[in-house]
Amino acid sequence: MSLTLTIEHLSKTYPNGVRALNDVSLEIPTGMFGLLGPNGAGKSTLMRTLATLQEPDSGSVMLGDLDVLRDKDRVRRLLGYLPQEFGVYPRLSAQAMLSHLAALKGIPPGELKETVEALLRQTNLWDDRKKRLDTFSGGMKQRFGIAQALLGDPKLIIVDEPTAGLDPTERLRFHNLLSQIGENIVVILSTHIVEDVSDLCSRMAIISKGEVLLTGDPAGAIEELEGRIWSRVVGREELAGYERDHHVISTRLSAGRTVIHVYADERPADGFERVRTELTDVYFSTLKRAAA
Ligand code: ADP
Repeated sequence: MSLTLTIEHLSKTYPNGVRALNDVSLEIPTGMFGLLGPNGAGKSTLMRTLATLQEPDSGSVMLGDLDVLRDKDRVRRLLGYLPQEFGVYPRLSAQAMLSHLAALKGIPPGELKETVEALLRQTNLWDDRKKRLDTFSGGMKQRFGIAQALLGDPKLIIVDEPTAGLDPTERLRFHNLLSQIGENIVVILSTHIVEDVSDLCSRMAIISKGEVLLTGDPAGAIEELEGRIWSRVVGREELAGYERDHHVISTRLSAGRTVIHVYADERPADGFERVRTELTDVYFSTLKRAAA
């Protein structure tokens, strides 16, 4: 069964006047979908809305033929959610907690032990199953978060900022785990880390200030910019001049030197080298264009 999550004209303004979502429409097919945007873009607001935890002001969300905003109970049975803040970690072992959550999720008692064991093994937590959750590292907590999100064979999985704060080894492990999750379900990964999306996602959207700026596949988006990204090492005191005269899309430090990336059809000036476009270039040029 191929499932599509269809979001149409979703808007949300908080009581303090912040417009967190502004007419968001997205078509999200099965597979891994990356929702990329800076802090404050509205990602968590969107994730909580899709997870039926928050009401939008207007718009609609359909999962196949299920109305997500109305049929909340039915959606919750098909949903696995790993929130940004997973809450307080109890002084319970991973195995005890997962068994408890499995019972809450309605896994029949006869299948509970087997389900919990399979998930602990899948998330590489079997050897640590007797350890208390409050002693887990950040990466182990995130893997436990995925184990609980996978309970009940979900058709829609929402993971909000899963790799923020993970060290490189833990992040790689987490990526490997996510990439094993079925291709036949919808997985939405919300993140401000471009590499999460380039490593994992076949489809993506970039959002900022509550608006969708770009949707598509990462490879296609990179292709569109190919040949038009130029790089140069600049002195810190020269930076302002380059920013005035060129479309500087990003500035970063590399081995202690300032490297700028510039968007231009032709070589912008002497000393610029054409670089292979990466998703970061797509991301920063998209954000820059929207801010201009
Ligand atoms: P992201 O997850 O991309 O960082 P959020 O959805 O958390 O973005 O936030 C989007 C905007 O909405 C931000 O400006 C944030 O400060 C604001 N916001 C989020 N939650 C609330 C809330 N409960 N009340 C008021 N403003 C909020």
